[in-house]
Amino acid sequence: MKTVIIGAGAMGSLFGGLLSFSGQEVWLVDVWKEHVNAICSNGLAIEKKGATQIISVNATTDIRSIGKADLVLFFVKTYNTEKAVSDSLALEKEDTLFLTLQNGLGNEETICQKIDRKKVILGITGQGATLLGPGSIRHAGWAKTYIGEPDGKMTDRTNQIAQMFCKAGIETEVSSHIHDLVWEKLFVNVGINALAALLGIKNGQILDFPETLRLLDSLVNEAVEVARRKGIQIEGNPIERVKTVIEATRENRCSMGQDLDRKRKTEIDAINGAVLREAERLGIPVPYNRMITDLIKVIEKRFAQG
Ligand code: NAD
Repeated sequence: MKTVIIGAGAMGSLFGGLLSFSGQEVWLVDVWKEHVNAICSNGLAIEKKGATQIISVNATTDIRSIGKADLVLFFVKTYNTEKAVSDSLALEKEDTLFLTLQNGLGNEETICQKIDRKKVILGITGQGATLLGPGSIRHAGWAKTYIGEPDGKMTDRTNQIAQMFCKAGIETEVSSHIHDLVWEKLFVNVGINALAALLGIKNGQILDFPETLRLLDSLVNEAVEVARRKGIQIEGNPIERVKTVIEATRENRCSMGQDLDRKRKTEIDAINGAVLREAERLGIPVPYNRMITDLIKVIEKRFAQG
């Protein structure tokens, strides 16, 4: 299955490297020339538990040079999805599939503005990666990946993609309720990212203070209420699940934290901001998510002003 990954940062490079190593034809596309040049010249370096593996993988900044794709995987940050989708049209043939494993809400809608909904597959991933520099990433997490058809049907094509991922060492399951899983992952990001980012703390420190625990509860409970009103099926206790993820990633500085540390734009609009948008549509007050979104937005605006 000829696979093109748009956005070859931490996650795109990880998936691209692992798939290429397993023998698949993979192309990484990124706008970051230095990174693409490094991969083309020296291979992609993947560091895992202190050991580094160099993998040969095709990479380019010129999407039009690749030809048509069987599978397009979006791994840009959510605020770049619209542009990535426009670019991806150059890869489309009649049976091309388009998969997103990005975080947050709204990716499906953005993709379906330009791509026929019948060609779109959704997913979430518990894999984790960090960019170390041009041509170099760290593989930092390896929990399960889930993919599924938006309408919940179990299909050959999702099985085929899951098998391809599994063969590359990316443990993947096909789900008949992928929207529920997208929201479940959203609860984790809603509870951790903006809070840890603003406070300048590692994930684990959220559990160390009664104030951060209260804030975590309020942020996640608001998101859970919005999800319930939208008909999302929620299994078990979402707050406890978020705390379990925090325990497992105690030493991590979350991606939104890293973005703020580097004075970069964040994915707030797809995380707490998305909860706020959905809540407004439903007429539900979500004051904690509103406040934390506004705080991050002001910081982003100040970065943009230099
Ligand atoms: P990243 O910033 O490391 O990589 C994104 C890449 O996209 C960058 O290299 C950027 O140059 C490139 N890009 C931007 N616009 C482009 C375009 N039009 N065409 C081609 N390339 C373009 O981000 P990441 O950490 O890999 O995250 C990607 C997505 O995966 C996000 O939605 C994130 O929330 C999600 N995610 C990340 C992790 C993680 O551990 N990093 C885990 C799960 C999910």
